[in-house]
Amino acid sequence: MLPSNRDTICALATARGRAGIAVVRLSGPDALAIGWSRFAPHRSMDEPPPRQMVLGRVLDATGETLDEALCVYFPAGGSYTGEPVVEWQLHGNPAIVEAALESLLAGGARLAEPGEFTRRAYLAGRMDLSQAEAVADLIEARSLAAARAAQRRLSGALSAKVTELRNVLIEAMALAEAEIDFPEEDIGEVDQARLRALVEQAQAGVAELLAGHQRARALAEGAQVAIAGRPNAGKSSLLNRLAGTRRALVHPEAGTTRDRVEVEVVIDGIPVRLIDTAGLRRHAGDVEQQGIELARQAVAEADHVIYLIDGGVGVTEADRELIAELPERRLIVWNKVDLRAPSTDFADLGDVTVSATEGTGIDTLRERLVVDLGVSEDASETLLATIRHKNLTEIASDRLQTASAATQNGVGIELVVTDLRDAATALGEILGETTADDVLDALFARFCVGK
Ligand code: GDP
Repeated sequence: MLPSNRDTICALATARGRAGIAVVRLSGPDALAIGWSRFAPHRSMDEPPPRQMVLGRVLDATGETLDEALCVYFPAGGSYTGEPVVEWQLHGNPAIVEAALESLLAGGARLAEPGEFTRRAYLAGRMDLSQAEAVADLIEARSLAAARAAQRRLSGALSAKVTELRNVLIEAMALAEAEIDFPEEDIGEVDQARLRALVEQAQAGVAELLAGHQRARALAEGAQVAIAGRPNAGKSSLLNRLAGTRRALVHPEAGTTRDRVEVEVVIDGIPVRLIDTAGLRRHAGDVEQQGIELARQAVAEADHVIYLIDGGVGVTEADRELIAELPERRLIVWNKVDLRAPSTDFADLGDVTVSATEGTGIDTLRERLVVDLGVSEDASETLLATIRHKNLTEIASDRLQTASAATQNGVGIELVVTDLRDAATALGEILGETTADDVLDALFARFCVGK
């Protein structure tokens, strides 16, 4: 549990370190009293005018000048947290920032916990839980596309969709409850058809949300792509080519890449973590064995696998065996096309031809990868971003499945109501309508201090 909500909290809202400016934020019932007592405006005034910059001096606990700064006051109801908020824009120096915070603490504020400003905004009803989570996602987004997706959720796109689905469920529950309350009136054919249609509509909506989840996850966390292939196929060279830097060790001797090498690249706005696996050789000495295990693991965990064929050698029996072990989500790439044209063997196996060292075919490979990962432009339309959203939506989906089966056979109307209610409650939790404190604690703990 967090300390009291009645406290006035303060924190550095901008990044730590030296910078042009640093913003210190103060929120709570005494924000104005504390913040204004530590600020001496150049032009004398009783109170800062709301939402206007005031130039003056920030004072330490003894009244000494700490820095020349700007002060902005947001009255309750018109601030980020919903409470009175005071923000100072100081020079971005860590010593000044620390002294300014100490001055506020001496004045009666306490340091904010991670995410506490946003938590207060949520508790004050300024945003629902899905929007509060979107704040953290927006800050953490690793690409512009991911940031856009978070922005859409922050502006309430997920909230709107969930509310729409819940309204469908509420209408369905009303129909089913009427049947329970007035059994003698026998729910008419029309109402039964309407009930079934509503359940179906809710199911379709929930299924659509779930389908988008995978894409949203790739966007938020970055897709993992393992590069596999026999030793010397050119895995490290390809990784370097895609990354545009020399990260992995490239060596003409088979089996040089013993550990996994990871590089994060952004392809078409999608963050992709490329993992160079050690040569997936079936019979290897002890030294390499460990690397090969890591490679297998990387392949198993990856969202997608690029399997490279050494075009200088052609498709070998080992390639065929290794390809047979691979998951479905794979792309077979003929490398070193500068050395030899793909063999006829490759025709029934391969997808793309490239030269890692010369760069031919790399753009095509990038395009194929983006298509295969299923993350395209419209990924910013996907709404379920977190595991929490996904789990709750899956619960709703399960309950709707049961409700749907029951409405089809027309039995157990009480159970239908229970299932519909459970589904609606699960969806409601996405918005944080009935969320337990420990869930909130875990959720806000991933925020940075000052947000
Ligand atoms: P890995 O063991 O699969 O990681 O392979 P490397 O990336 O270390 O490459 C093995 C050798 O093949 C190196 O000498 C590379 O320069 C060479 N190589 C990689 N890609 C190409 C290519 O497209 N064309 C040619 N001609 N050589 C390549």
